[in-house]
Parts: sequence; structure tokens; C-alpha cells
Amino acid sequence: MPGADGQRTFEIRTYGCQMNMHDSERLAGLLEQAGYRQAAAGAAPDVVVFNTCAVRENADNRLYGNLGHLLPVKNAHPGMQIAVGGCLAQKDRAVITDRAPWVDVVFGTHNIGSLPVLLERARVQQRAQVEIAESLERFPSVLPARRESPYSAWVAISVGCNNTCTFCIVPSLRGREEDRRPGDVLAEIRALVDDGVLEVTLLGQNVNSYGTAFGDRLAFGKLLRACGEIGGLERLRFTSPHPRDFTDDVIAAMAVTPNVMPQLHMPLQSGSNAVLRAMRRAYRRDSYLAILDKVRAAIPEAAITTDIIVGFPGETEADFADTLDVVRLARFAGAFTFQYSIRAGTPAATMDGQVPPEVVAERYERLVALVEETALQENLPLVGREVEVLVADGEGRKDQATHRMSGRARDNRLVHFSPAGSGTMTADGVLGGRGRRSDGMRPDHMPQPSDSPHPVDLPQPVDMPQLSGALPRPGDVVVTTVTRAAPHYLIADGAPLAVRRTRGGDAWEIRRQGTVGQAATQLVTGNGAVAGDVVGGQRVMLGMPALSRPA
Ligand code: SF4
Repeated sequence: MPGADGQRTFEIRTYGCQMNMHDSERLAGLLEQAGYRQAAAGAAPDVVVFNTCAVRENADNRLYGNLGHLLPVKNAHPGMQIAVGGCLAQKDRAVITDRAPWVDVVFGTHNIGSLPVLLERARVQQRAQVEIAESLERFPSVLPARRESPYSAWVAISVGCNNTCTFCIVPSLRGREEDRRPGDVLAEIRALVDDGVLEVTLLGQNVNSYGTAFGDRLAFGKLLRACGEIGGLERLRFTSPHPRDFTDDVIAAMAVTPNVMPQLHMPLQSGSNAVLRAMRRAYRRDSYLAILDKVRAAIPEAAITTDIIVGFPGETEADFADTLDVVRLARFAGAFTFQYSIRAGTPAATMDGQVPPEVVAERYERLVALVEETALQENLPLVGREVEVLVADGEGRKDQATHRMSGRARDNRLVHFSPAGSGTMTADGVLGGRGRRSDGMRPDHMPQPSDSPHPVDLPQPVDMPQLSGALPRPGDVVVTTVTRAAPHYLIADGAPLAVRRTRGGDAWEIRRQGTVGQAATQLVTGNGAVAGDVVGGQRVMLGMPALSRPA
């Protein structure tokens, strides 16, 4: 309820992919601009916003279940409002207010900017407001945002998708692809870097087709190169590329742009050409593998991850064997694996040859086992290697128990590391702290500023002793040595070789001082994990929430 200052408070519950999470940042920014503030932990908010996902299995049942749980809370708190947005709202529209008449606002994926006005109108008129636009009027990135992380940010370069993959509901709910102008994207990134952001992930349903809308098919590679010129932007990632549009100029841009990280997440979906055809994925297994060969030739240390669907309608045992074969050949460092199940409204939902659930489940287990084996084989050679870790907030769910901290290596591998020197207890009960490197050098396999065509302005690391007991903060950068590898993560239990306090860490500290006691906006991933949590060693990927535990 309104705080002592009379401000109305809000809580946002987000389901689904990174695009939804980024939309929630926009919703939080809009509400704050309209005079709301985030509800304190444990306090009943004045406004609860559900940002929904239609890709998830049983998404509607869970939404109506959650809305049902909120009804007594709303009855006990006069003036409380409930808003439902996102893909499920776009799909179900007024059905939501029919089934849950206590909902005050339903807004579509193109109506994010209207939320404050709709809430106000619902309050004044005392009746539900439903606003669903069929297409985008304003690119959401021009809206204010309250960024979840002060050191790492998502930047949308496009929304919507022109493809017609038969298992996917996204095109009908997010509309055709709209590309943002490169100048706007770069201006947003520069502003983020000025605020302390070190890492940016470019977001789009199909980033490789970026530029089609304004007639430049090479626009994505050019955008990567332009991002390489932004001083202070240390890490650049993107998700998701579509193999059909993955051109050589993008690989060349990745290879020569020093802040593009050595990592690629490229959905495979199936290793069978027949299934790819039925999925309407316009590439085949050989062309997919050929892209990986080129990426590895240009960026040998690249970690490659993927999405795979098991049990698509018509998938035979031979088709599934083809998928296993591609997994072996591709040497994935990780994969999000999904058991196919019917999504109403998609072409695949009415296809013949639906695979029985028990067959899907059995194939899924075999796939998960192979992906784990492959990922471990890819991770094991890193033992003994030095890695540069961007320390993260909330990436390691067991950190408190293990006295480790967690973050992402340059190749996006999750690293759980011991933050201090001697005296740090490892998981095995052994005292950590096996020497430290005092020369402040970066690991040899990392690009040095002087080697780069577009030098990234990296401050020199300071030696651990100079920090005199200060732990690295989320947003700081740690260099450490890998001591153990598992399929989903790396462990580094020696003392860090170097810690660099960064603008990102400063920004995190300032944010923390300003938000102590406030509830974080709740982001719930496809399988119920809270965003920022690591699900099987990786974050949830764009457009394909984790319907099952990723391997
Ligand atoms: Fe577009 Fe990706 Fe959905 Fe295919 S799976 S239609 S590329 S969003």
C-alpha cells in the first residue's frame, strides 16, 4: 500500500525469455517515471504486474492460478490493482478479464508504454481496461527503463520475427520484425556505458536478419563493429541468431571486434533434415555444422551452445539419432533442451504424427545425458587455464554455503570462484589460497589492449594484497585459475590472480546503497526459477523459455 511518502508501490512478476525480462525493465522504468516505486520486501504492493509468456507449457493455467491466489490479497487491500501483459495477454485478450474479473488492466506486447495510463483509467472509471495493439507503434527501447543490473544490460535491436517456425507462437504474438536504427542502438549503449555498464547483450528474435527492415542485409555485422568502437564497453554478446541468416561477414565482425565475446548461442532445434523441414527451419544439418566450423576457425576458443527440441511431430528414432549425431559433431558447451508439447495456435499443434509423451521423455533423457557428456568434454580442457570472470549478482545459488562467488567468463561459462586468499573454505573442506599472481597480468589467451584494432580501454588490475580484505563486488572483474570442471560450470578454488574494481562494481555499490530494503522486481523463468538464477548453468534464452531442465 502507499508508503509513508504517499507513493503507490508496484511489483512485477516476469515469466519467459530475455525479451520479456527486458520488457519488465521498461515497465518498471515507466511506473517509476509515473510516480510509483518498487514495493518493499514483504509489503503488499498497490500494483501487481504479470508479464506473461505464452511459450511455456501450461502458461495459462499457472497465470489463472496465480491470479486466483491474489484475489484474497486484493480483497484485503482496497485500491490494489492487478495488470496482465506480455504474450499471453496478447493471445487471450479479454478472456483474461472474463476468467478473472478482478484483473484491472490487460495490455499487449505492443502496449507496454500505456500501462500507467491504463492503471489510472481503470482506477478512475472503476472498470477493467483492455488494450491490445496489433502492431508496434513505438519501439519499446525509447521507453524509460529500470535496469535490473547496473553493470550488464540488454539492448533490443529488433522485436518480432518474420520467420514461421511451426512450433513457435512468437510471430503471431510479437508481430513482424521491426528493426531499430543503428544510431539509436549505439546511443543507448553509450548512455548505458556512461552509467557503469560493462556488458551488453543485443536482443532480437533473429539478430542476423537485423537490417532487413531498412534495407541493409549486412547491418548486424556493421553494428557489431560499431559497438567495438565504444570505449568502456568491455563485453558484447547477442542472442539469438538464426542459422539461415548467419553470414560470413558476421563471423568476420565477431573475430575482429575485441569486445565481442568468444561465444555463440545458435539454436539447432533438430539434427534431422526431415524434422527441420517440418519445423520450417530453412537450414539443414550440414549448413548448420559448416557455420560452426567457420566460427571455430575464426574464433578457436568460442564456446558454442544451442537449443534443441525433442519429439517434434513426426520425429522417428532415426531422426532423433541424427540429432544425437549433430550434438556429438557440434561439440556443444551446453544446450537448452525442450520436450515438445502442443502449443495451441501453432501449426505444429495440429500436425499428424504427434510423438507419445513417454517416447519424448525417453529420448529427452538420452539427449540430456549426451549433452552433459559433451559439455563436460568441452569444459575439462579449461582446468588449469586462467579465466577472466565478470562477477555477477545472484548467479550462484549455493554461494553462501560454499563461500564462493560466481560470474561469467568471457566465453559465458559460469564460474564459481573462491573470492579470497587463504582462509577460504572450499566445498571439500580444504583451505583455499594456492598462490597469487602479483604481476597484474591478464591471462595470455585474452586479447591485450595493444593487440586490438579498436582498443578497449581497460584499467589495469590491482593485486589482491592492495585490496586488503575487500571482496570483489558484482560488476568487478576477477582473473582466476580453473581447478575443476563440471558439465554446467567451472570451479576456481585458488586465490584470484587479480581483481579489477570497475565502474560496474561502483554502479552496483551505489545501487545497493540506494535500494537496501527494497524488493527486487521478481523475474520468473520458464521453469519457475527466479531470473538471475542460473538454470542448469545458463540463463534462459530468448524466445524459448526453459520448459524442461536444460542439459
Ligand atoms: Fe522466429 Fe525464433 Fe520463433 Fe522461429 S523460433 S518463428 S526464428 S522467434
